[in-house]
Amino acid sequence: MENKILVFGHKNPDTDSICSSLVMADLQTKLRGKEIIPCRLGEINEETKYILDYFKIEAPKYIEKVEEGQTVILVDHNEFTQTVEGIEKAKIDTVVDHHRINNFQTSEPLFYYAQPVGCTATILFELYTINNIKIEPKIAGLMLSAIISDTLLLKSPTTTEKDKKAVSELAKIAKIDIESYGLEMLKAGTDLDKYTEDELIHLDAKKMENGDIKYVIAQVNTVSIPDVLKRKEKLETEINKEILANGLSLFVFVITDIINSNSVAIVLGDRTDAISKTYEIKDNIAVMLGVVSRKKQILPLVEKNM
Ligand code: MG
Ligand code: MG
Ligand code: MG
Repeated sequence: MENKILVFGHKNPDTDSICSSLVMADLQTKLRGKEIIPCRLGEINEETKYILDYFKIEAPKYIEKVEEGQTVILVDHNEFTQTVEGIEKAKIDTVVDHHRINNFQTSEPLFYYAQPVGCTATILFELYTINNIKIEPKIAGLMLSAIISDTLLLKSPTTTEKDKKAVSELAKIAKIDIESYGLEMLKAGTDLDKYTEDELIHLDAKKMENGDIKYVIAQVNTVSIPDVLKRKEKLETEINKEILANGLSLFVFVITDIINSNSVAIVLGDRTDAISKTYEIKDNIAVMLGVVSRKKQILPLVEKNM
């Protein structure tokens, strides 16, 4: 991999992080005329597995760290708490993202392209268009899947007109029926029985830092919140272990009902007030009606309440 540019999304990768790495590698390989390597920083989840099987695409290569001076492209994240080991000494060439910018700095100029849209793939779709590069059906399928995943079939409050337009154009290229494919894909991701409690709390966990305060907001999708809550005690045990091991002030485990667009969160740590100022917590549980988005509905309120 000497001299080759690597592209990857965040740790505990979700569908957008995996699909956008594959898509960005395709786009950049075409733009630069040299091979760019798609990578991942963790295990592929069940939803993403469904997508890669469907389109018969190989998963990106797993990496744990990068060497000093390695040129990298980040997609779907920017915070150093969520990225590859060794990032401080890597050369960040490009970032394409749709999150807040935090815990991020470089010593050299870079290409940074961010938009407040529902998914990284929506921005990548625009980059293909701007650069006049033809989108292959499989690549369209990956982008489409990422947008469906991040916006929960365009129902999340993070959804913008750009996401909707991208989805309808990509569906034509990929020849996919959005509703039926989208629902099957999302359902594949709600198969949580396969995971241990320890795996569940890490599946889509994001580490945040606010000054000296470290905390985690994790999220899982389900079609039945009560089903997940049957495992509440074991989940709490694992969360408390995680808090101790990593000196966390707060752990919010968000269980999202993708059919009814509601969430329930298990909230533990010294700083549960960051949630309880807004949502009543009873027996470590906060009910969040109409909440599905970590980045737009949960993270901002935690930061405000901290
Ligand atoms: Mg993501
Ligand atoms: Mg994303
Ligand atoms: Mg997500």
